[in-house]
Amino acid sequence: MKLMRALVVAVVLSGLAFVGCVKSTTQDTPETGATADSADTTAAEDAAVPVDVTQADDMAGTAETDSASDAGSSDSALGAEVQTGTTVRPWIDTHAHPTGIHNECGDAACLDTVIAIMDAHGLKKAILMHPPAGWNGLDEASEALVREVVEMRPDRFFLGAGGNVLNARIQKAGDSEQEATDMEAVFIATANELVAGGGVVVFGETTSCHLSYEDAHPFEQVPTDSKLYRTLVDLAATHDVAVDIHIDVAVETQDIPPFFDDHSNNNPDQIQANIGDFEALLAHNRAARVVLAHVGRDTTGDMTASLMEELLVANTNLYLQIHPVHGPLQSPTSIVDEEGDIRPEWLTLLQDHSDRFVMGSDHFLTGGDDDDKAFFRIQHFLRELPEAVAYEIGCENPVAIYKLSSGCE
Ligand SMILES: [Zn+2]
Repeated sequence: MKLMRALVVAVVLSGLAFVGCVKSTTQDTPETGATADSADTTAAEDAAVPVDVTQADDMAGTAETDSASDAGSSDSALGAEVQTGTTVRPWIDTHAHPTGIHNECGDAACLDTVIAIMDAHGLKKAILMHPPAGWNGLDEASEALVREVVEMRPDRFFLGAGGNVLNARIQKAGDSEQEATDMEAVFIATANELVAGGGVVVFGETTSCHLSYEDAHPFEQVPTDSKLYRTLVDLAATHDVAVDIHIDVAVETQDIPPFFDDHSNNNPDQIQANIGDFEALLAHNRAARVVLAHVGRDTTGDMTASLMEELLVANTNLYLQIHPVHGPLQSPTSIVDEEGDIRPEWLTLLQDHSDRFVMGSDHFLTGGDDDDKAFFRIQHFLRELPEAVAYEIGCENPVAIYKLSSGCE
């Protein structure tokens, strides 16, 4: 069951050392995420007032660690077996978080450690963003932290903005046109101010359906084509930045999956159909580049390669951000199997539409072993792809879609 391949490639060339690791994932054990994360709660509590704890973290604060646990198992990523004939594949992470419920990586020492781990796993640059704040989670200081981190190391990080101050307002307006109308001027001014601050490449992380993994982690749901979401994509088009949107996809209104019912009291009995609304949002402004986050991670049973292909074909302004994990549902349609290997139908999709994909670790930076596991998983994924496709998805597409000022060079 557990296939372990470990690779240590040490290339010391021009003072640069790579340590690359290829190791398959083992079976997901969702509970381990909370367990592993719980060790970090001190940092999270330090970082946030109580209301933040209920809203600040993205689901992946838990999910990532779930799958990180499976990826890294209990072993060091620096395994004992050496596999020859492989090289580290460069990539850009389009979705990572310096702050969340269980983490904060906001000082130079933490970033130095993260960057050393990035270097070991071919990760050249990363777009950092705030996880999607809930309706009661507006916190300008938390939003500002992301910019501060990026500005400490602009050679390695790009800025995603609004995961707190824009998403919290989208959630607060909910499905009320009136509330949205009342808030719209402030919403627009806030977005313009973020962009005026410089460096913004994407508005995110936002969400229209965000399942909760634990009681300290929010459930969020709004119509994907709500008034403020439409305003957001118009602003994105105006400013020539992308939009990052997290949707736990539901083609039809469905009962909450038992996993989420078991893990958090915040989840409702049902989640509303959201794909129709999502396509309406995409159609609202085709000049806006919209990135669907966490593609391949199946949380509802509906995250299938065939659904993603339908969306790609029908929507020229849609891009898909891959999070290559088997969990949390251990679904037969998730992008990778229990060993972290790409399923055939997804490989076909990736090759047929290779200009529409980017990688996103959805990782919450810690400056520790969790970083190693998260980046290791994506390096494994990239090595499963034909080299040219891996370079396109890992390096070229992020530059094109997010208009980055530099790539993997
Ligand atoms: Zn997310």
